[in-house]
Amino acid sequence: MTKGTPSFGEKSGKKNHIPCRRCGRRAYHARKHVCAACGFGRTAKIRKYKWANKPVNRKRRLK
Ligand SMILES: [Zn+2]
Repeated sequence: MTKGTPSFGEKSGKKNHIPCRRCGRRAYHARKHVCAACGFGRTAKIRKYKWANKPVNRKRRLK
């Protein structure tokens, strides 16, 4: 028995977003090499907007 629809099968396999090493959010695109949250790989500055209420460094922990 399957839960959901058969199109759930498309969700298996390669993942695109992996944890970003600059902002720590799981928004780094592994194939495009660009972070959707902080702009890592696209810009040297941190991608930040005042309309975005999620801070980009939220999930980072100490090494
Ligand atoms: Zn990032």
